[in-house]
Amino acid sequence: MNLHPVELAPRVRAAWTADGAPEALAGALGACFSLFPRQVHGTRVEWVEAPVASGIEADGLLAGATGLLVGVRTADCLPILVAHRTAPFAGAVHAGWRGLAGGILDRLAERIATGGLMPADFAAFLGPAIGPCCYEVGPDVGERFGRHFNGKTLDIKGFAHERLSALGFGPITGDPTCTRCTPALPSYRRDPSCGRILTGIVIRNDNGCHARGGSPAKCWQRAC
Ligand SMILES: [Zn+2]
Repeated sequence: MNLHPVELAPRVRAAWTADGAPEALAGALGACFSLFPRQVHGTRVEWVEAPVASGIEADGLLAGATGLLVGVRTADCLPILVAHRTAPFAGAVHAGWRGLAGGILDRLAERIATGGLMPADFAAFLGPAIGPCCYEVGPDVGERFGRHFNGKTLDIKGFAHERLSALGFGPITGDPTCTRCTPALPSYRRDPSCGRILTGIVIRNDNGCHARGGSPAKCWQRAC
């Protein structure tokens, strides 16, 4: 598995991969369990504190427990990671044009606020997605994105960066790679039968996993 590490905040480990399974990504980042939502191109963002057997229908997950990797699957859509700069909170969001136009980033900020936190304390990372070089859309889609639509192509990464910044997130970093122009990366527009990029984040547990004898303050396995 080719792992592309993402530096976001001291309390988290994060990465994306174009050729790995969820369990492999979780293992590589020191997580005990991975949780990927059942994505529906919607705007729902949920807090998770422990693994759940059946998939959560959502396009964003926020975690406040160590050892639990939250992630999203994408192929042209934009994967976004967020991490509190000092406290143990992190999240992953799947953002395609529908989710972005529907306000998923505003829902993310609202969910962070319901946890008693502020988006201004969160760093954000924008992963590989289809770029404005390749993302041709019709005006019915494009005109929802203001200056990020040039009449022919759409810049979802530019739109997301601007919206996250307006909501207070920062610093915001990103990977400029366009999935459509990069043969090594899955791109739905190039090949609808392609695989998926997995992008995930886990809060570090420097005391070791609870299940393996550690004593974290807050681990999803704290009941064990
Ligand atoms: Zn491109």
